[in-house]
Amino acid sequence: MRKLSLIAASPGVGLKMKNEIQPTPTVEEYLEAILNMLSESKSVLGARLAERLQVSPPTVTATLQRMARDGLIATGKRKEVTLTEHGMKMAVSIVKRHRLAERLLTDILKVPWHEAHREACLLEHGISEKVMDRLYTTLGNPKTCPHGNPIPVDDVLPPLRGTPLDTISEEETVIVERISEEATRLEELMQYLGEAGIKPGAVLTIKKVADYAGMIKVIVNDKEVLLGIRAASLVWVVPESNSRS
Ligand SMILES: [Zn+2]
Ligand SMILES: [Zn+2]
Repeated sequence: MRKLSLIAASPGVGLKMKNEIQPTPTVEEYLEAILNMLSESKSVLGARLAERLQVSPPTVTATLQRMARDGLIATGKRKEVTLTEHGMKMAVSIVKRHRLAERLLTDILKVPWHEAHREACLLEHGISEKVMDRLYTTLGNPKTCPHGNPIPVDDVLPPLRGTPLDTISEEETVIVERISEEATRLEELMQYLGEAGIKPGAVLTIKKVADYAGMIKVIVNDKEVLLGIRAASLVWVVPESNSRS
């Protein structure tokens, strides 16, 4: 171990190694989760990653240590995780492969909306740079995944638009922009949202905000739909006048 770290620490060799190592599927899942949290301006802490990735905190700690050693992440004073330039590049790549895989699954293979995330997480690690570029053009340079999350362009992840639905006042009408990646892995919630018609582009009117009961009532397609505050916080919306269309 000593010898290895010495080799990695010598500047030229270290750099070369970093660029050549293809992250393992596990590390790619971490990079994906970290970038998704950072893009929503959430601070990334070990405990939150453990919850998100459904692994134990000691496992997260060990994996993060390896990722720091490989130059993918850095940790701050309060142990918050950030991506290095190299880590960011790798993270943007896996996020792009994930979102393109979802498009392929829903648009071409007709996999249900709520199952696309899980299936994409299986597929994405086997997609090479070359196939990713082919997928991108074959699918017609899609701007977002089926859940409205932006697909990176030229190695850059576009900023997220909108605000969480639980911050909107009663009687306002909004358009669904995206469903947070935090929700897309929760298949029952995704199925509920999908069946209620709460998908990108849907028009919602907030009928009642009952903080005391932890829920809000919205009107979508002339139907009333109940959402818990937590679920509503995962649906990002834009004002009606500010939509893409
Ligand atoms: Zn994934
Ligand atoms: Zn998605």
